[in-house]
Amino acid sequence: MQKIPYFSFKHQNNQIKDKVVQAILDVFDAEWYILGQQVAEFEKEYAAFNQVKYCLGVANGLDALFISLKVLDIGPGDDVLVPTNTFIATWLAVSQTGAKIIPVEPNLLTYILEPENLVKAITPKTKAIIPVHLYGQACNIPEIINLANQRNIFVIEDNAQAHGATIAGKKTGSFGHVNATSFYPVKNLGAFGDGGAITTNDEILAQKIKAFRNYGSTIKYYNDVIGINSRLDEMQAAILRTKLPYLDQWTAERIKIASTYHQLLKNIDGLILPVTSPESTHVYHGYVIRTNKRDELQKYLFNKGIETVIHYPVPPHLQKAYSHLGYKKGDFPVAELLAETCLSLPVWNGLSEAEIKYIAGNIKNFLVSGC
Ligand SMILES: *Cc1c(COP(=O)(O)O)cnc(C)c1O
Repeated sequence: MQKIPYFSFKHQNNQIKDKVVQAILDVFDAEWYILGQQVAEFEKEYAAFNQVKYCLGVANGLDALFISLKVLDIGPGDDVLVPTNTFIATWLAVSQTGAKIIPVEPNLLTYILEPENLVKAITPKTKAIIPVHLYGQACNIPEIINLANQRNIFVIEDNAQAHGATIAGKKTGSFGHVNATSFYPVKNLGAFGDGGAITTNDEILAQKIKAFRNYGSTIKYYNDVIGINSRLDEMQAAILRTKLPYLDQWTAERIKIASTYHQLLKNIDGLILPVTSPESTHVYHGYVIRTNKRDELQKYLFNKGIETVIHYPVPPHLQKAYSHLGYKKGDFPVAELLAETCLSLPVWNGLSEAEIKYIAGNIKNFLVSGC
């Protein structure tokens, strides 16, 4: 039987192996392991890639979101709008600041936040919106920025799943006042460990971020604010530098995989395919389908050697960690329906057309003939 994992690094790793080994040796030889030349160069290169003036490397995506909120002075008494359907980190970052989470339902077909829902959720206390370019699809960020600017609200893009996506000809992660991203290994641009970054065009915010990630210090042993230790390390920066030049090619391959799934899976009763809104582009961090028979389908595929994943099985408002907020089942029906029906299919560089056909064929067999 064929075995198709949900994710594999094999193909990418083979492509970059020699360069990664050299990059690690370079760090070894430099004898400078924290905030050195590799991080500085990566920050420049990623800023150029992401079409922003400033990029600051941090330890991970959750810290990137948290620091973004902190440098905007968001804390107790402030409301922050977040999607009901997202990875938990988006919520955790807001909780860490002491601000109040205002959950907003996404569009059921595109799975992402729409400006109309955001407008309805804004309160007099709303200080920031965190749109998440979930599964790799760009939110209509120009419109979100417009509505936020009219009301003096900050926008922090959560770009963890959408490196390289564009909207209105510009990269996601270049619109918000500050933007957070993650280089967790399986993200579209991934390190070989934890990593993250914050991007912005605002020089003052960039300086604040630079200090905040480093104990709140600009000059060693002199501390201006109560910061944290959250730095991208030299080794990860060196590895990210070797991977970044491949990202556009890897993204194009992901888009091709998604379009092959689309061709093979369209017009199947009971199967809902991901919709890309006309304003948006998609870099397919995930190819997320929906069906009422999700659990049975996942089991069926597993028995055929195909591994799939649920993103995400429990929406944040129903997590034990958030029980104190008092939400119950039925409060956010769109997120709950997504959690009950969504299934992410394998999308990784090197996934062959034959493998995609095998996956799609089995989905069809299960949903059309029930076997
Ligand atoms: C991965 C992810 C994060 C958090 O990134 P880490 O580096 O794992 O902390 C935040 N938001 C979204 C949408 C993510 O997918």
